[in-house]
Amino acid sequence: MDIHCIGTGGGRFCLTTQQRATGGFMIEHEDTSMYVDPGPGALVRGLDHGITFGSVDALFISHAHIDHYGDGEALIEAITQGCKNDRGHLITNEIVLEGQSDTSGVLSSYHRNHIGQTSMIDAEDIVDLEPWSLTVTATDHKDIQTNGFCAEIEGTTIGYIPDTSYTDDLIPQYRDADYLIINTLRPVDKDWKGHLNLEEAVNLVETIEPEKAFLQHFGMNFVTSFRTQVEWLQDYDPAVPITLCSDMTTYSLEDQGLEQFV
Ligand SMILES: [Zn+2]
Ligand SMILES: [Zn+2]
Repeated sequence: MDIHCIGTGGGRFCLTTQQRATGGFMIEHEDTSMYVDPGPGALVRGLDHGITFGSVDALFISHAHIDHYGDGEALIEAITQGCKNDRGHLITNEIVLEGQSDTSGVLSSYHRNHIGQTSMIDAEDIVDLEPWSLTVTATDHKDIQTNGFCAEIEGTTIGYIPDTSYTDDLIPQYRDADYLIINTLRPVDKDWKGHLNLEEAVNLVETIEPEKAFLQHFGMNFVTSFRTQVEWLQDYDPAVPITLCSDMTTYSLEDQGLEQFV
């Protein structure tokens, strides 16, 4: 079971400078794969990393911010072999698909019409991605509907916590996670409503107690103080192994010798 981290940056300044790439990640196990949050760069860097998009099974978009959907249409083209072969499963929420009040959805109807299947998700929905099962979660992110998941894959559960403020509501939703992937935009001492900082992400990990946690979607303040963040984490010495993920890197969950702080 692999997590392919294509772009581990997030927020407007990583997006516009690509100092950390913003392409999101893909989970793959045997013959099934799901690409998650294809921000700008997902297609180009994903190809560079060896992803065969024509066999990707599902595309999950957590919310309608560009660092999560920017390459969504390009990936739909790649998944459907240029919209010639209606295949793949788009899993996302109503705001991404339909917009809200004065906005439209963020994916063209052309592309929406060429994906094989679409699931419009809401909290607690269960999406069948045979042989995986996704339980949809909800987070608290700047008044825009934002959804993550717990993916149950042959007895192992991978939880994805997308952009969110710290809230106790997160804990029961991810209680069953064996592995956690957490968007951690902010460095340890910097709060910003709608986003977790490193200390909050570590608190979640220590409370939920997965086997391992992978932090990513770092904002520019995190990236420019990365060494300080690594040192803080080493000093904290969490009980659960926590990896600060790198761009263009595959993490195999079966690996025992996984480096703790990358
Ligand atoms: Zn984001
Ligand atoms: Zn966001």
